[in-house]
Amino acid sequence: MNIRFRCPRCDTVASLSRLDANVIACPACDWNRPLPASFQHAQRPSECLCCGCPDLWRQKDFPQRVGIALVACGAILSSIAVMYYRPNLALAILMAFALGDMLLYALMPDVLVCYRCGARFRDQTPQQDYPAFSLDTAERYRQEHARLTDARAGDQPASSPAGPLVASGSSAGLPPDEGPSRSQALSSR
Ligand SMILES: [Zn+2]
Ligand SMILES: [Zn+2]
Repeated sequence: MNIRFRCPRCDTVASLSRLDANVIACPACDWNRPLPASFQHAQRPSECLCCGCPDLWRQKDFPQRVGIALVACGAILSSIAVMYYRPNLALAILMAFALGDMLLYALMPDVLVCYRCGARFRDQTPQQDYPAFSLDTAERYRQEHARLTDARAGDQPASSPAGPLVASGSSAGLPPDEGPSRSQALSSR
């Protein structure tokens, strides 16, 4: 299993390809967390291995940029065909790209994403029994994160008002291109 997560202590984005000694540990600092017994038994996560969040959602492990580039290529090529008065060719190009997109989508494996910290778990085993993205659940965790951020801001001394108030809004975890973006979520089933 490949795990990508943001260390809760030093904020490093770490990628682990295997787990040693039944703990998940940050390679940059001494943060670590024991793996839950359920994971040690089944070798698949029933909760987030990084933060213990019981809610994980399933997403296609497909880079969004590749998908957008494919759509753009199809649109440009078919426009060129239309420009040269070849409507049948334009249609064929669009259909070929749509078919390619569908094939890629079907062949891509799933990745599990934690709602709370954005950690991502890649595995070879099928993950059909994990739920797809839920906007309600994501909103619940977004509000939880906002409350925590506010509480921490309240604890800060008045001399440093710029600190945690600028913390990221949506999911607390990985950078924007890695976190559970809305459009990716909606395209995942
Ligand atoms: Zn760390
Ligand atoms: Zn998590």
